[in-house]
Amino acid sequence: MLHSNLTVNEEGHLVIAGIDSTMLAQKYGTPLYILDEDRIRKNMRLYVDAMHEYFGRGARPLYASKALSFRGIYKIAAEEKMCVDIVSAGELYTALSAGFPAKDMYFHGNNKTDTEIRYAIDNRIGYFIVDNDEELDAIDKYAAQAGIVQDVLLRVTPGIDPHTFAAVNTGQVDCQFGISIETGQAARFVGNILNKQHVSLRGFHCHIGSQIFDQIPFCDAADIMLKFIVDMRTQYGYTAEILNLGGGFGVRYVETDPQIDIADNIRLVSEHIEARCNELDVPYPVILMEPGRSIVADAGVTLYTVGSVKTIDGYRSYVSVDGGMSDNPRYALYGSEYTVHIANRMNENPDFLCTVAGRCCETDALIQENVMLPHPVRGDILAVLVTGAYNYSMASNYNRICRPPIVMVSGGKDRIVVRRETFEDLTACDM
Ligand SMILES: *Cc1c(COP(=O)(O)O)cnc(C)c1O
Repeated sequence: MLHSNLTVNEEGHLVIAGIDSTMLAQKYGTPLYILDEDRIRKNMRLYVDAMHEYFGRGARPLYASKALSFRGIYKIAAEEKMCVDIVSAGELYTALSAGFPAKDMYFHGNNKTDTEIRYAIDNRIGYFIVDNDEELDAIDKYAAQAGIVQDVLLRVTPGIDPHTFAAVNTGQVDCQFGISIETGQAARFVGNILNKQHVSLRGFHCHIGSQIFDQIPFCDAADIMLKFIVDMRTQYGYTAEILNLGGGFGVRYVETDPQIDIADNIRLVSEHIEARCNELDVPYPVILMEPGRSIVADAGVTLYTVGSVKTIDGYRSYVSVDGGMSDNPRYALYGSEYTVHIANRMNENPDFLCTVAGRCCETDALIQENVMLPHPVRGDILAVLVTGAYNYSMASNYNRICRPPIVMVSGGKDRIVVRRETFEDLTACDM
């Protein structure tokens, strides 16, 4: 199977973390998100341990909670000694309400509102990752009102395209996030931050992309960032303590995706940084990383019930299920690849070529095209693998479809951690 937490039992059913998925579909109904808690903890520990071992004790992984945000995930992150990054007051509120310590949170985003900045400062958030002039002024003002000095990192764009493994002039520089090194604007911005009374610049941040399958783009980014650290030391006499290399390690969605050894990649990045620091004569920074997808994606499976199989003669066959872009918009948005199975007939021959469609009223609201399955029939349980990241967090109520519950499985037991939405939830805000 695609990942080691997935197996098939004697009845030919898909088993997730030791539990028969068809039993879960029967018990909780479909559509249903299943999350393997032990896998999430294992992924978190892998980062915590590898980063401590190779980057040093001060290094911290921050869980990029936009990938999957609900109270339970912040509780797990706290127990596993992860910090978190958040991008809205809503994520901040959810984390606080789960008891996650504000000091271990990093607030991201290219448009933090005054209300959000005040809310975060009132709760004594650990860090803001500053993105623009306007929010720098606002952070300084509210920190002054609160009588504190607020720690910040500056988000810069190093101009790296992770999929060509090269520094580029456009692309990453031309984006709404961060401030460009190449145009000279990042260097000027550092001067602005250093002049603020109530803001303390602790270091720099970059995020180069997603689905990165080796260490090279991170090493390229580190080169540019370390050179920037040296330049800022020359220009302002300021030496950054922290270097945040962002998120982006890749996840295996389909058989053709590589399986990467994240710990080994971290080791290689660390050796690269160490050599470069010696060359440039800068102190080895405290390294942060921000994994999202690689923490939660492979812990998730979504279950649906097949409703119809429609073959359009001379064209193709559509298999329609009881969810869709309302619970997983990623194929509609990006054409993302997924592995699909019939969970109750895993041992049967997958000889039927089809397109899996959701139930939303959009022609492009598909879950996957060109899928090979044993000929499905109404009532079969269809499983989409590796849906732990950017599925629930991107779900919507389009067509007034209730969002599915999340059932967490661990140690052979299952429990609801997010309940299914009800019709009352759908109309709760309607006056
Ligand atoms: C999205 C994002 C991440 C997480 O990326 P993954 O590909 O999910 O690991 C981390 N940092 C920032 C700034 C992001 O925007």
